[in-house]
Amino acid sequence: MPTTELVSRSGEVLDIAKVRRFEASLRGVLLLPGADGYEAARRVHNAMIDKRPALIAQCAGVADIVAAVNFARENSLLVAVRGGGHNVAGLGVCDGGIVIDLSRMKGIRVDPAGASVRAEAGVTWGELDREAQVFGLGTTGGAVSTTGIAGLTLGGGLGVLMRKHGLACDNVLSINVVTADGAILTASATENVDLFWALRGGGGNFGIATTFDYRLHPVGTVLGGLVLYPFDRAKEMLAFYRELTETAPDELTAYAALLTLPDGVRVSAIFACYAGAVAVGETVLRTVREFGPPMADLIAPMPYATIQKTFDATAPSGLLNYWKSSFLQTLSMESTDAMVATYLTAPSPLTSIVVEHLGGAVGRVGEGDTAFGHRRAEYSVTAASLWRQASESEQNIAWTRRLWDAIRPRGSDAVYANYMTDDEGALRVRAAYGANHKRLVAVKNRYDPTNLFRVNQNIKPTLERDAT
Ligand SMILES: Cc1cc2nc3c(=O)[nH]c(=O)nc-3n(C[C@H](O)[C@H](O)[C@H](O)COP(=O)(O)OP(=O)(O)OC[C@H]3O[C@@H](n4cnc5c(N)ncnc54)[C@H](O)[C@@H]3O)c2cc1C
Repeated sequence: MPTTELVSRSGEVLDIAKVRRFEASLRGVLLLPGADGYEAARRVHNAMIDKRPALIAQCAGVADIVAAVNFARENSLLVAVRGGGHNVAGLGVCDGGIVIDLSRMKGIRVDPAGASVRAEAGVTWGELDREAQVFGLGTTGGAVSTTGIAGLTLGGGLGVLMRKHGLACDNVLSINVVTADGAILTASATENVDLFWALRGGGGNFGIATTFDYRLHPVGTVLGGLVLYPFDRAKEMLAFYRELTETAPDELTAYAALLTLPDGVRVSAIFACYAGAVAVGETVLRTVREFGPPMADLIAPMPYATIQKTFDATAPSGLLNYWKSSFLQTLSMESTDAMVATYLTAPSPLTSIVVEHLGGAVGRVGEGDTAFGHRRAEYSVTAASLWRQASESEQNIAWTRRLWDAIRPRGSDAVYANYMTDDEGALRVRAAYGANHKRLVAVKNRYDPTNLFRVNQNIKPTLERDAT
């Protein structure tokens, strides 16, 4: 039973006077249940998540974050950290503890001469792209512009520039972090290098990131967009997509999807982004446009910040979400045929199956070079079930699990931590960190030995594992 009473993890009820003293120390806002803004602040992107924290500390800066971490640690509170609030598992919020909410921290400073940007942890990708694009610059970010830079980057960060420029985490120059003991550290290639390694794929396990410095690249106009094909050619389309991705240059990132249009018509689709000279892109993408005939060809030259909003309308906040995802080494005909057959039985027209193609610059980084270790995975496939009514949840969840059973690779549980739900189990969490898990435990032991930061795809420190 969820509780909004402020109790410590060991069951001690907290004195309200102590809470008021903490509140008075903040430059930002402390929300308690019943306060104006509390209901909106506890909601996250996925409406399946209905948690009621006892406190929400909407931080205005690093000093607030330090105060909140110290307050939470001293009072043994359950802590959730919120960036963009997009996590499908709902890991930006918790029941009964404190949410350290960074969503108001929106500072962005682009250094055009140094081709870099510093952004605070409450920034979304749309906000960062907008500022960087004024200077004709950009970096790898997520496919939906309302996603937070923080959670996405800390988990790895897939996006349409990744084959050319690497994952979002590969473009991080440094991260400022508040650790569990309230210390403020910088993690970079030269400072706290073990922490820097762990923050690039290990999620929010090691501390609260306050700012991210990213390398930027010249990215002006890209050639890309969606091409839709009739669903009855979906199997051929996926075979074509396999060939396309097997020979794609680094400038081309292409996703394949099975989806349903607002008028209820099922379609298969390729979403492509060519991040190089438009004239060359026209040649590279000719086969995509000519496979068909397409029902719609929306490929056009457009600013990078515009292509980054292609999917915004398909993923509004407030829908019920349940996802299942796996990394795949190859796109076998057996799994693509299963996708097509099972998609025909999807209970919700808002649901899609999306295949993302990795490789390129992502695969040229060593598996142990960053905590994100799935460098050899060529594809990530995700069944993203979305629906409107809670009464439809059971049916949609059962369908998603059935689909996943049909397509998941046997003998490998590898998955992108950022696409996991909250019911995957400890073994799958371990599989998300793969061969890097042991080293991540060592970093966790050093920076968060009591597991203060546990509302995430959790890496348990050794002492806690011994105790359980
Ligand atoms: C519609 C949609 C589209 C997506 N598209 C992509 C995509 O294209 N590429 C991709 O890689 N992923 C994508 N994702 C997944 C996304 O990377 C994760 O959902 C990610 O967790 C979102 O980060 P957030 O800051 O918005 O989330 P939150 O829910 O706020 O946080 C997620 C996790 O990160 C931790 N965290 C957040 N901020 C901090 C911080 N400052 N310091 C420490 N820990 C922190 C939280 O504690 C939590 O564990 C998508 C998700 C959705 C819902």
